[in-house]
Order: sequence, then structure tokens, then C-alpha cells
Amino acid sequence: MSSPEDPRIIVALDYPEASPALEFARRIPAGLCRLKVGKELFTAEGPDLVRRLGDLGHEVFLDLKFHDIPNTVYGAVAAASRLGVWMVNVHALGGRAMLEAAREAVEAAPLRPRLIAVSLLTSMDSRTLAEIGIDRPLEKEVMELTRLALDAGLDGMVCSAWEAAELRAAHGDAPLLVTPGIRPEGSALGDQSRVMTPREAIEAGASYLVIGRPITQAADPVAELERIRRSLGG
Ligand code: C5P
Repeated sequence: MSSPEDPRIIVALDYPEASPALEFARRIPAGLCRLKVGKELFTAEGPDLVRRLGDLGHEVFLDLKFHDIPNTVYGAVAAASRLGVWMVNVHALGGRAMLEAAREAVEAAPLRPRLIAVSLLTSMDSRTLAEIGIDRPLEKEVMELTRLALDAGLDGMVCSAWEAAELRAAHGDAPLLVTPGIRPEGSALGDQSRVMTPREAIEAGASYLVIGRPITQAADPVAELERIRRSLGG
């Protein structure tokens, strides 16, 4: 397990193609934040984009949420490690053997990325769970998947800032908690509903904050990023 290191803000590059993502990455001085590349951008532009972000000095969270048989996830996490990403993630629902394979892959890498797990997607509710045969209450399922992932030696979890305090109480300071659903005071909610401000999320126990549109769609993203960093005392 590792403790959080500045910068604590991870900007979600939710763009459909490379050019706006690279334009954004060139505007932001490396070291002010980290950048998250998800399935849309990665599927459109592939590993070359991740290398180009790295060449600009940025550290990348490759948010591909791997979920497959252990051997395949080992290979995918090893490939992400060779790309030099700073953080990579998998679905805890893939089970213990898959989670352990992912951990073995990062441990074998010369530059070990942080490895975190997603418990349940926030788009799932108790009805969604019932449809796929999960009868446990949603909160209990999240807690059990978290326990499984941390037990398998992962570095932490993606979670809501609203879950952070409970996860800290249950698992202590060591796990990295990466929290989306962050809205600086005064910014639009968009499609997020249960949000916290950056400062509230850090106070609740978040290690890293994933923030997308409030920064990427700001008239002056660097100024907005600086403003959020100041709100964290950084
Ligand atoms: O623009 P916004 O700040 O809402 O972006 C949040 C980012 O975090 C997006 O990339 C979104 O997919 C991701 N995310 C989320 N909620 C989750 C998991 C991931 O908003 N539960």
C-alpha cells in the first residue's frame, strides 16, 4: 500500500479523440494534476495517446476497469505497466484469483503502477443487483468487494467520497481512495447527484479526487485547477 502523493487531483480527460485531450494536456503544466484516460478515449486513440501524455510530463491513470479471466487480466495489467501508467484499475467483481493476478502483474513491473479496484458501479442499484443474482444489500456488497480487493493486496478503491469515511474506519489509512463525484463550490452538477467539494472529500478521507468537467470545461482550466488546489491548501 502507498500513501497519497501530490498532486491529489486527477483530471478526467473525457474526450472522444486525441486532439482536445492533447490540447488540454499542453495547457496544464505537468505536476499540477494527474490525467485520467478512460474507455472512450483509449478505444479511439490507443496506447499512443497515453505515451504522448507521458511525453508531455503527465502521469496517467488508465481507467479501463479490467474484468476478465486471471491470465488475460495479468497480461492487460502488465501491458499497462509497460506503457508507464501511474495508476490502473480492475473490477473487484472479477474475483480473488483475478485480483491477485492483477497484483502480480504490477509487482512484476519495473515501474509499479498503483493498482486499485472498482467495487460496484454507481449506476447500479438494488434492482440491477437483483437482476444479476446478487441478493445482498448494495452497501454490504460494496463493503465485501472492498474487503476482497484489499485482501488480495490491491492498493485501494474507487469510491464515492460519501463512502470514504466508512471505508477509512473499516480499513485504516493505508488504502488509496480515489473519489469521483467532486464538484467545487459553485460549479454545475452535470449528471452527478451526490457530490462533495474537493476539500470535503479530502477531509472525509479521499486520497485522490477525480474531477472532469468542472476543470476541462472551465473558461480557464489552469486557473480553475489552481483555485481548487488552493482550496486544498496546496
Ligand atoms: O466530469 P465529472 O467530474 O463528472 O467526471 C467524473 C469522472 O469520473 C468521469 O470520467 C466518470 O466516468 C468518472 N466516474 C464517476 N463516477 C463513478 C465512477 C467514475 O463519475 N462512480
